[in-house]
Amino acid sequence: MTPSLRFDGVIAGGGAAGFFAAITAAEAGAQVAILEKSSHVLSKVRISGGGRCNVTHDCPQARDLVTRYPRGGRALTGLFSRFGPAETIEWFARRGVRLHTESDGRLFPSTNRSETVIECLQSAARSAGVRLFTDHRVDRLHRAEGNTWSIETNRGVFSAPSVLLATGGCRMEGHPATSCGHRLNPPVPSLFTFHIEAPWVRGLSGLTVADAALAVAGVSLRERGPLLFTHQGVSGPVVLRLSAWGARSLHGQNYHFPLEVNWLPESHPQASLEQFLAKRHSAGGKSIRNDRPAVLPQRLWECLLELAGIPPDTRWARLARSDAQRLAQACHRTALQVQGKSMNKEEFVTCGGIPLDEVDLKTMESRIAPGLFFAGEALDIDGITGGFNFQAAWATGWHAGTAIAQRSLK
Ligand SMILES: Cc1cc2nc3c(=O)[nH]c(=O)nc-3n(C[C@H](O)[C@H](O)[C@H](O)COP(=O)(O)OP(=O)(O)OC[C@H]3O[C@@H](n4cnc5c(N)ncnc54)[C@H](O)[C@@H]3O)c2cc1C
Repeated sequence: MTPSLRFDGVIAGGGAAGFFAAITAAEAGAQVAILEKSSHVLSKVRISGGGRCNVTHDCPQARDLVTRYPRGGRALTGLFSRFGPAETIEWFARRGVRLHTESDGRLFPSTNRSETVIECLQSAARSAGVRLFTDHRVDRLHRAEGNTWSIETNRGVFSAPSVLLATGGCRMEGHPATSCGHRLNPPVPSLFTFHIEAPWVRGLSGLTVADAALAVAGVSLRERGPLLFTHQGVSGPVVLRLSAWGARSLHGQNYHFPLEVNWLPESHPQASLEQFLAKRHSAGGKSIRNDRPAVLPQRLWECLLELAGIPPDTRWARLARSDAQRLAQACHRTALQVQGKSMNKEEFVTCGGIPLDEVDLKTMESRIAPGLFFAGEALDIDGITGGFNFQAAWATGWHAGTAIAQRSLK
């Protein structure tokens, strides 16, 4: 058992948000402890971005950045204008970690190793005097005398005037915040891939389409971008984004829903139809199989011909108007049935957690229980894939750490 210990701030959770908050508070002069329930800290940072850690995203304007958060949105504008990607880049640079930007805007350490980020956070915490207690699970919080929190763990009791819950994606049962009067928006997964059983889809596993537009009927969900066929269905940035924006509604449908795909989002269906009809004269002798729209991969084009019921060796000259209509329909409105989901290996998060209207977003302090703070995925904030989730962890951790230090100096 750890003997009863007192700090200026106790931080539950040794993840990205907890470390950032602890370092910020300790560098500003507060005595801080991190209590981590497992034997390892920063486990998600280690596996993040396929082992490379996508630290943030090149998105300098807070008003643009907030559009990447299905949960959070405009409420985060002030938070990110005080600590946005530029501040993240500078924070790591000051501690010797250079980040590089990839063509899609994602930033990674120049070593391309998440270990670099972990070493930086651990060494900054050590230098600032942060005390780390692994295998310490925070079970309960309650108010003790003199505006102090009593923090009960499986290994003893800690006390501090400020306590931060940076415990990551939540479970509904036994959450320490609910006993302090907070609600929890129920957790559901975000950033997942779609299962589609149609054999032609699975047969295209490994193929990418640079630009596809997806829509889910009935819930006004639409996204456009690169799509990847997998051995279970579809994935890629457009699918992950759709899954993030639809995390709650798709959960409500138990991940069984109709999906419509437009493989030629740059052109209008009527224009495609006219183009196919015109080819009956301009390219009448060519086999349709060998005359695909340039943006469509050959194997997908052959599948679309099959879906439209057109034998691939048909010449354009033999294409009936009804065939051309079915082909335009297949290119612009392929109907698929999603029958389940898988978590994306590169990045996934929990939608849900502490509602933002219960937190002061300038300090991350509870509006219900003074001296209680929140940061990271414990809050009902989550972003699309691309470094936005760590950006939220750094920003909320920094704000909470700053406020905890200021409180300790009062
Ligand atoms: C596979 C994967 C890859 C990812 N890649 C990226 C990426 O490249 N870029 C990006 O932006 N985001 C990525 N994410 C999302 C990102 O990792 C999270 O959003 C981020 O880690 C959240 O940080 P956090 O500190 O809030 O929570 P966590 O990292 O989950 O840390 C919470 C910590 O609290 C501990 N804890 C929980 N309950 C208690 C308790 N009661 N007492 C004490 N300790 C407790 C947990 O053990 C954990 O160590 C990825 C996620 C996954 C799963």
